[in-house]
Amino acid sequence: MDYNKLNFKAGIEIHQQLEGKKLFCSCPTEIIDGNPDNIIKRKLRASAGEKGEVDIAAKYEQKIGKEFYYQIYDKSVCLIDLDEQPPNKLNKDALKTALQVSLLLNSDIFDNIQFMRKVVIDGSNTTGFQRTALIAKNGFIKTSKGKVGIDTICLEEEAAKIVEKDDNKVVYNLSRMGIPLIEIATKPDIKNPEHAKEVAETIGMILRSVKGIKRGLGSIRQDVNVSVKNGPRVELKGFQEIRYIKKVIENEVERHLKLSKKLKSEVRNVKPDGKSEFLRPMPGASRMYPESDLPILNIKSLLKETKKPELITEKAVKLEKKYKLKPEYAKEIVNKNIEFEKFMIGRFDANLIAKILIEMPKELKSRFNLDIEKLKNEDYLEVIKNIKEGVPERFAIKMLEDILRKGKINKNNYKIAEEDKLEKEIKNIVKKNKELIKERGEHAIGALMGDIMKKFKGKVDAKKASELLKEEIKKIL
Ligand SMILES: [Zn+2]
Repeated sequence: MDYNKLNFKAGIEIHQQLEGKKLFCSCPTEIIDGNPDNIIKRKLRASAGEKGEVDIAAKYEQKIGKEFYYQIYDKSVCLIDLDEQPPNKLNKDALKTALQVSLLLNSDIFDNIQFMRKVVIDGSNTTGFQRTALIAKNGFIKTSKGKVGIDTICLEEEAAKIVEKDDNKVVYNLSRMGIPLIEIATKPDIKNPEHAKEVAETIGMILRSVKGIKRGLGSIRQDVNVSVKNGPRVELKGFQEIRYIKKVIENEVERHLKLSKKLKSEVRNVKPDGKSEFLRPMPGASRMYPESDLPILNIKSLLKETKKPELITEKAVKLEKKYKLKPEYAKEIVNKNIEFEKFMIGRFDANLIAKILIEMPKELKSRFNLDIEKLKNEDYLEVIKNIKEGVPERFAIKMLEDILRKGKINKNNYKIAEEDKLEKEIKNIVKKNKELIKERGEHAIGALMGDIMKKFKGKVDAKKASELLKEEIKKIL
């Protein structure tokens, strides 16, 4: 499909959660599920604003009389999250992270930051609004199809997490509410669905280059705005997986072309399988007014002391060169934030260490479905230390497996001396019987096994011996 001829226009909005403390209180940013410590019930009541007008949408919601249930988890929810207490001072660490992201996105950062209240009437904020501040604008990223503009970068509070809903009530989990969120909106510079994926990936890489970014499922969400042939703009909301972006946009463009006359501007929800469904009409201009509980913040001095972080792509290239690492290892080490230097404790080939840190855990997961998240830095270090002290490299994966299954490494499990002796002896026997092997091929195994058992007086792992024997015989045949 020629997206250029279709006058394809698309922009992405990315929401990234931050780690540490919530934006306006000291609650941790840990999202808790399961049985709540408490539940409170509330109803929305529309009230007149400063001009004496009542918001029509809020009035409508009040008429319906929907009930909102808020699940409270003592560890992650306080009076501020319940709107029973005004917000504390802004979380400086979150602001610093937002500034670093803004620097990497080459954008113009404002000297003064003012939080605004964005009206929210679906109950997902206990206050009835979301606090949001514009941090920077007019940035760009470089892509294979030229620069893509970054329109705005905002710092805002995350909404409560929806647990269930029906016509009369909605249940929300409050542990998510108030987590700092960076919102990045690109300009509609995206050229085609493949390009959308590249842009999302590039911004994701930039975000991961900054300390304080939350990782894992649900910590980043993408919305995509699409239009073709100057038709209505449709927002596709809530991608958690970048790999679907291309397909979802392609489907949406097809839908636009089929419906061109009947199509309305709307917000669509992206489902986990990558399909989308109608969510709600496109809202009008956001109703925003200044947050009167928070002062305007001059950030000139903070900005001066904020350094632009190194991109993880740059870090990976450096690591690759320094240790002669395979590029894919270097990439993953940086991506996983592994302090590689710490593990280089002997005169090892760096690629062996990388294999232990990256490939072996993956293998244990795919082969035995073991929970490799349980492996800590000290565990990897112990394995490497053991190899340094003489345990053969081939036992590295077995040592990791033992840590996961039994909680520790038991050196007796790796029968180092015996196995090495066995291997040596087998090599010897094969060498002596070259002629016999060439003559009888694999049928020689039986006779040779007899010799081995005799030599070790039967005290040998027969299965291992036959495996080694087969290997050595193959080398000759
Ligand atoms: Zn709190």
